Amino acid sequence: MNNKPKKPSPSIKQNLGKHQDPVGRRGNFDEVAMGFGPEEAVAEAARCLGCKNKPCELACPVSVKVPEFVDLVYKEDTGAAASKIFETSLFPAICGRVCPQEAYCEAACVLKDKFGPVSIGRLERFTADYARKNGLITPPACAPDTGKKVACVGSGPTSLSVAAELRKLGHAVTVFEALHEFGGVLSYGIPTFRLPREVVRFEVDMLRKMGVRFLKNVMVGKSLTIDELKKDFDVVYIGSGAGLPSPMNTPGEDLVGVYSSNEFLTRVNLMEAFKFPATDTPYYIGKKVVVVGGGNTAMDSARCAMRLKPENVTLLYRRTRAEMPARGEEVENAMEEGIKFEFLTAPVALEGDEKGRLKRVKCIRMALGEPDASGRRKPVPQKGSEFYVEADSLVVAIGASPNPVIQQTTNGLSVNKWGCIAVDEATGKTSLDGVYAGGDVVRGGATVLLAMKDGKAAAMAMHEKLSGKGN
Ligand SMILES: Cc1cc2nc3c(=O)[nH]c(=O)nc-3n(C[C@H](O)[C@H](O)[C@H](O)COP(=O)(O)OP(=O)(O)OC[C@H]3O[C@@H](n4cnc5c(N)ncnc54)[C@H](O)[C@@H]3O)c2cc1C
Repeated sequence: MNNKPKKPSPSIKQNLGKHQDPVGRRGNFDEVAMGFGPEEAVAEAARCLGCKNKPCELACPVSVKVPEFVDLVYKEDTGAAASKIFETSLFPAICGRVCPQEAYCEAACVLKDKFGPVSIGRLERFTADYARKNGLITPPACAPDTGKKVACVGSGPTSLSVAAELRKLGHAVTVFEALHEFGGVLSYGIPTFRLPREVVRFEVDMLRKMGVRFLKNVMVGKSLTIDELKKDFDVVYIGSGAGLPSPMNTPGEDLVGVYSSNEFLTRVNLMEAFKFPATDTPYYIGKKVVVVGGGNTAMDSARCAMRLKPENVTLLYRRTRAEMPARGEEVENAMEEGIKFEFLTAPVALEGDEKGRLKRVKCIRMALGEPDASGRRKPVPQKGSEFYVEADSLVVAIGASPNPVIQQTTNGLSVNKWGCIAVDEATGKTSLDGVYAGGDVVRGGATVLLAMKDGKAAAMAMHEKLSGKGN
């Protein structure tokens, strides 16, 4: 590389990477963040101080060896950088894109306050993409077959982690997925403009090459019970996620044009409704769209809606921007794309026309009161502040909980008051012998990285059991 900066060069400005132009990108589902090229990656890697105490690595839930892989990027040895990441994290092209680095590794970077943190997530993505596109990734070696059989329920990041870890150790793994596509939320929830499908498919194919069996369209709890799986498999892992949408319980929620985020995102992302009639799934959003919520799901819903070309998209959130659980970067992207944010606002009623179609949303302004159980200040409705927002469609994106089908059809499986499967935190062990669980079905909605972390921890406990060491 010409003019390669000396390492460390912390005061070089943090590079946040190029993005598709906000107006142009409203017309497509292509990736918004364009990623680093080799020169940008080396220059960003030059900023790393290579701290001996590795605060970034310590802050990472799956302990990615950050200073070491960043140093290899600086040395332009991208293949070795990728191998270094793979030592602890199996899906860097996914995590480099959707992991909230600003809350983990980048939050711990010592450069954060003075110069801006090293863009660790973007470097991780660069490394993984470069290695994938240049054929530098080969499936990890697997130990000789142990004769033990593992069933994973669901194919989201938590089950994929279990499958990878246990297959490497020589166990035969079968993944059962209810949908016709693998990847969980990575395929049906997160839009392609944040996570292209070929990235997820590459990871699933890698597991296939390692010998993992993937079966689709199998709803465990309906077509097959956990008890039946236990007869055929030595251990079972439940990674069925949190795909049951929470309703607002607001009058008018049954009007035509009102969607749960789950339905809306599945229609758009999985069924590609935006290509209708070339695809089978239609959508209706009309001219004015309202989205309710403040998390990643709300941002994704609003940004998907914007790409379906309505006149406007308005997002209602009952607290302020500071309390939004969505990644800051995605809130900024949404704002740049023209989504109107109404903070400190909540819907109180949805009103329809004579045909039962949504027409307008009655809203109320809020003020922040005392902190609630979540530690965030509680929104308090302001009497007399009601107003209306015109809407042809509305997407409810205020949270989700686990689908109860497995919990209801499995005798003796302990569940907490939120319907999440109860487990031993360190091992993912459930109340049933040989049955483990992790990810969103246990946490009730968290992050990709925590789902992967749960999968890794449970895989180790399951291996112990399969080897006759654990219980
Ligand atoms: C729209 C959206 C955006 C998000 N954005 C981010 C982000 O930017 N960063 C981040 O870190 N996290 C994000 N998250 C959260 C993250 O995606 C989840 O925490 C993570 O996917 C959980 O992984 P999981 O494997 O536990 O479950 P899931 O990914 O939900 O996968 C569960 C799988 O199990 C299948 N399944 C369910 N029931 C059954 C059954 N009975 N039988 C067979 N299969 C079944 C489901 O079809 C699904 O494929 C987002 C979530 C959503 C919804």
